Amino acid sequence: MPKTVFIDRDGVINRRLIDDWVKVWEEFELLDGVPEALSLLKNADYRLILITNQRGIAVNKFTRETLDNTHEKMNELISSKDGAPFDAIYVCPHDRHEKCSCRKPQPGMILQAAQDFQDINLSECVMFGDSESDRGASENAGCKGFYKIDDEHSLLNRVKEYLK
Ligand SMILES: [Mg+2]
Ligand SMILES: [Zn+2]
Repeated sequence: MPKTVFIDRDGVINRRLIDDWVKVWEEFELLDGVPEALSLLKNADYRLILITNQRGIAVNKFTRETLDNTHEKMNELISSKDGAPFDAIYVCPHDRHEKCSCRKPQPGMILQAAQDFQDINLSECVMFGDSESDRGASENAGCKGFYKIDDEHSLLNRVKEYLK
């Protein structure tokens, strides 16, 4: 049985744009060390699940089709750099005021993943993210830990710390 980790996208996998969304593939800039971080996890038998808020869909900055296309290209790019692609991707397309159960810090996307993959035991899972809403979602879902990504701590740094 694989173990599972949850990973945020913007600011963790790709450079976060200031006051803007990654609307098209051309705006997607993969961060240093990401392919290696994902392949370290995969080699340690982890399932890789992306958990991402994308309210740009709700405000018509891009469509779900464009986003799915970006994620397909993201996985291809990661693979082409000897990284492991994501096994599953969960997206919240809603705006803040919609009060959905999936927009982080709500735990809906993580809980859905745990339904879709019956072997997931959330109390053994951790999340990697750059926002307090990621921490909140992981806590609200009952995950065992959260690894904060920031300017001093890349995903690769945090993954090495986690796997140590
Ligand atoms: Mg983020
Ligand atoms: Zn939602």
